Amino acid sequence: MSQDPRRDELAQNLAQVRERMAEAEQQRQVGSDPADLIAVTKFFPAADVGRLLELGVSQVGENRDQEASQKAAEVPEATWHFIGQLQSKKTNSVVRYASHVHSVDRQSLVTALGKSVRRHREAVLQGDVAPGPNAERDLGCLIQVSLDGTAGRGGAAPADLEPLAEAVLAEDGLRLQGVMAVAPLGEDPDRAFQRLFELSELLQRTAPRARWISAGMSADLEAAVRWGSTHVRVGSGILGARPVR
Ligand SMILES: *Cc1c(COP(=O)(O)O)cnc(C)c1O
Repeated sequence: MSQDPRRDELAQNLAQVRERMAEAEQQRQVGSDPADLIAVTKFFPAADVGRLLELGVSQVGENRDQEASQKAAEVPEATWHFIGQLQSKKTNSVVRYASHVHSVDRQSLVTALGKSVRRHREAVLQGDVAPGPNAERDLGCLIQVSLDGTAGRGGAAPADLEPLAEAVLAEDGLRLQGVMAVAPLGEDPDRAFQRLFELSELLQRTAPRARWISAGMSADLEAAVRWGSTHVRVGSGILGARPVR
């Protein structure tokens, strides 16, 4: 035991999640590379991000700009993924710290993100802001698709995947990284993630480098890994239960 009980708790939870991921890798139906782990740290303090870094987890996910921007300023050495609903007026802030946005779900957001990356680069050249992850590398964009077939809070309709992908490819400063989804409530997650895998295959026909599949959370990471997830986003399984928002 170390002097830091919270660190021990995170280490234990992390070991369990890693074990679940390893077992699911044995049942993988598609894909071959083991999935990466993104720890979702929303609601938990920057100190926990520091502990996770010490425990070997360098990729973290957040879903609110206000909370994320503060923590990213405290722990800039982590790789920050923005995974939540994003308003276009927040993109100027998000591009300062996030290397990836997993929740690209509409044309207006693509335009706003591109504009923000280019504006950020101007500001870096002027010496006004820290370079962050997007000064030289293009911002990684994942198209969030709704697996219950409807557009709305949960991402774009599957039919909009191709046009949104084209928009990202055409936008200076953005890089098309792949697809993201949350399994619909009440549906077998294996079936949902199989559909996401098929959408990813479709996307890779026109954009062969857009290979990421961001899928799987604490409750359904096994199903996601079986169906080709390249990045699982695990919050409560590592950090513990969070208060209901
Ligand atoms: C909170 C959140 C997660 C993590 O959820 P857990 O059930 O805590 O693992 C994953 N993805 C998104 C988009 C989230 O908002």
